[in-house]
Amino acid sequence: MAKRVYLFNEGNREDRDLLGGKGANLCEMTNLGLPVPFGFIITTPTCREFFENGNKLPNLLEQEYRVALDLVEKKMDARFGDPENPLLFSVRSGAPISMPGMMNTILNLGLNDAIAEGLARKTDNPRFAYDSYRRFIQMFAEVVMNHDAHAFEKEIEHYKKERGYETDVDMTAADWQAIVERFKAMADFPQDPFVQLRMAVEAVFLSWHTPRANVYREMNNIPDSLGTAVTVQSMVYGNFGDDSGSGVAFTRNPSTGENRFFGEFLFNAAGEDVVAGTRTPQPISALKDRLPAVYDQLNETQALLERHYRDMQDIEFTVQEGRFYMLQTRSGKRTGRASVKIAVDMVGEGLINEKEALLRVSPEHVEAFLHPMVDPEAKTDIIATGLPASPGGATGAIVFSADEAVEVARDGTAVILVRRETTPEDIHGMKVAAGILTELGGMTSHAAVVARGMGVCAITGASSLSVNADAGTATTKDGVTLKRGDIITLDGTAGEVMLGDIPKTEASSSDDFQTLLSWADKHRRLKVRANAETPEDAIRARELGAEGIGLCRTEHMFFEAERIDLMRAMILAPDRKARKGYLKKLQAFQQADMVALFKAMDGLPVTVRLLDPPLHEFLPHGEEETRALAKRLDLHSGQVQTAVAELSEVNPMLGFRGCRLSVVYPEITRMQVRAIIGAALSAIEEGYQPYPEIMIPLTVNVREIRLVGDIIDASIRKVLGEKSVSLRYKVGTMMETPRACLGADRLATAVEFMSFGTNDLTQMTYGFSRDDAGRFIPQYLDKKLIEHDPFISLDQRAVGRLMRLAVEESRAVAKGIKYGICGEHGGDPRSIQFCHELGLDYVSCSPYRVPVARVAAAQAHVLAEG
Ligand code: ADP
Ligand code: MG
Ligand code: MG
Repeated sequence: MAKRVYLFNEGNREDRDLLGGKGANLCEMTNLGLPVPFGFIITTPTCREFFENGNKLPNLLEQEYRVALDLVEKKMDARFGDPENPLLFSVRSGAPISMPGMMNTILNLGLNDAIAEGLARKTDNPRFAYDSYRRFIQMFAEVVMNHDAHAFEKEIEHYKKERGYETDVDMTAADWQAIVERFKAMADFPQDPFVQLRMAVEAVFLSWHTPRANVYREMNNIPDSLGTAVTVQSMVYGNFGDDSGSGVAFTRNPSTGENRFFGEFLFNAAGEDVVAGTRTPQPISALKDRLPAVYDQLNETQALLERHYRDMQDIEFTVQEGRFYMLQTRSGKRTGRASVKIAVDMVGEGLINEKEALLRVSPEHVEAFLHPMVDPEAKTDIIATGLPASPGGATGAIVFSADEAVEVARDGTAVILVRRETTPEDIHGMKVAAGILTELGGMTSHAAVVARGMGVCAITGASSLSVNADAGTATTKDGVTLKRGDIITLDGTAGEVMLGDIPKTEASSSDDFQTLLSWADKHRRLKVRANAETPEDAIRARELGAEGIGLCRTEHMFFEAERIDLMRAMILAPDRKARKGYLKKLQAFQQADMVALFKAMDGLPVTVRLLDPPLHEFLPHGEEETRALAKRLDLHSGQVQTAVAELSEVNPMLGFRGCRLSVVYPEITRMQVRAIIGAALSAIEEGYQPYPEIMIPLTVNVREIRLVGDIIDASIRKVLGEKSVSLRYKVGTMMETPRACLGADRLATAVEFMSFGTNDLTQMTYGFSRDDAGRFIPQYLDKKLIEHDPFISLDQRAVGRLMRLAVEESRAVAKGIKYGICGEHGGDPRSIQFCHELGLDYVSCSPYRVPVARVAAAQAHVLAEG
């Protein structure tokens, strides 16, 4: 049987998995010679045994820890359960990954009537002894016996009122003794210290499953299976008198990152008073004034710990009768701003190197620099929640249609566009909105993709909301009705909707941030491109560090106001000749757009995808809109209706789209290729270096590629004609059907690049419709049928396996193919790591995620190097 109990001098910081973070660090500090009250730790595997046993402690555990306890007694020169010379313990939780305040701790364990009396006698401090006793009963009753904590607090309040006391300071030894008597009547706790200890150990194990611990683990992706260790430590007493007290400190400022010791202290108080936030502590300078020698020791200790751990530490300590004790150290939680500053500063101080600095900054931290965020301190009641589709925070007046958004936003009013769902036709409203909220849709729904692309905060799939645009209302589950013009705040990072204007922290940049990004660029192999179709997006993407465009969705260029009717006329054209006329006009627009993109991405590759969506997406749906269109195009509304009906599909996602359009309407493809190549030639004439990559979407086999490829080649030859220019370009395909991946060895002979379109690939691998999955994915996550939403974080097992197979089998056939990813996963850090491991050449994501992707790509590289 593995050893279940470790003394503080038997472990070290590497033992987090076995001893929990708190236990491992107590061992490390003991080894460093710091003043740590001695104790022992029961391991995390013992916790798992406990649960497997039906919540029973293993048979021999008590024998085992009693041996350790004897050794602690020798070292402390006091005895557990001995009224003449009592030793008391704290029984503390501590998981391999820190979960601050989420589990239970019991202090002053080992007290009973006789021992409290003995403690009073031995210390000659009865007030302290009875204060400690009542604290123990209160904590034991609450944590171990599940009593209501308020009842005890109320009893004390009641007692003080009876006596006319203002604060706890007025309470004498006799008063605390009286309280103890009242508490004993309220909670029938065991007097035997060893029974107390056993029950406390069980209670700490059980606290692994308290609701708040479960929620915290879920939020932070901590596996349920880890379990907690139990630390049993000799007590020291901050509540001993005026030269005693407890404090918490950070070696640097956790919110700004400033390199200055930062802490708080409470005189004559136990540590629980500081962490629980029930009394307001003084700044650490108060300790410097009153107990300068203790302060010096604290200051030396914090500096030593930071140097030793080479990271900002969060420490807990206690002072008893002018003597200093360390009770905890761990890596301190910090804001995004602090995280970047600390990492960059520490490189400057020679504490860590650039690669380590990169690993210290999480993707969320990078994001905090790019968007204004809802201030977590200022958050109020959340009236609805949805998917965190596009990060950042936004406040504005509610509008229910895109036209209304444009109208209201005209004078600079911030608006939140609230829709049941959004369609491409809403784009003008989305563009002017400060935030977007939809009842339906998932992380890859139109609204989400577009919002991320624009850097606009968005929440999709807020299914607890019921939006009625006609009535101009949105009703929450709890019956709150939001009306046009009401002010709401969206937290797109958390997916939370709040009433009113909630303060935000500003988006910003800093020199430190730029420094960190430059290190990221130095230490990554994956290139990072952006998904962009407008020159503004392309310019922004380049500013944010994009090394090209990985996906330009040409259809976006046809959704714009003046073009959509041309597009519609083209679709509704009675014959090929008429269609060609409209295509010619569309080509002019497309070409102008492409010139601008090539200029913005001068010298860098621009992957242009041929038209992808089914044609009916461009047509109006409502009766009124149909009539209006017919009028504008000089057609009968019956004609338009018939055309709409003919084009409609049962399964548009699996329907007439992608390269299937090129097969049936080669003239559309010809127009697009001419526009692209024509634009490239114009750009060259103006002195730029365009680098188009033409991408065929939704292919399933090599014959399609050959057929469309021939159309492309012929069109290119036609545009180039006799001109003597050298134009660099590539032709390749999107890999987004399972069949394309499974047949990659054959596709390899006909393409120069392959770009994984993981949105469609995920949809088709799972058979989950991207637009409908929002209705059941939350349940799938809840019931743990899936670990992550596969549309957010790439499913490495199956979708990833298709990708791997495609890369390996195509590489075996043809050298020099470039591999990329252009689905939404291209901006997800976990997916980026996987793409690095697969050996892709680049990831492509929305412009605002480019910095996140740069850091994630560097982290993947640094981690892979080991
Ligand atoms: P958490 O994980 O919630 O921080 P801890 O186990 O750190 O819980 O305990 C909470 C507080 O109890 C500590 O900050 C410390 O002040 C106090 N405490 C814990 N153990 C001891 C001890 N041996 N002596 C004195 N105070 C203690
Ligand atoms: Mg603690
Ligand atoms: Mg696709």
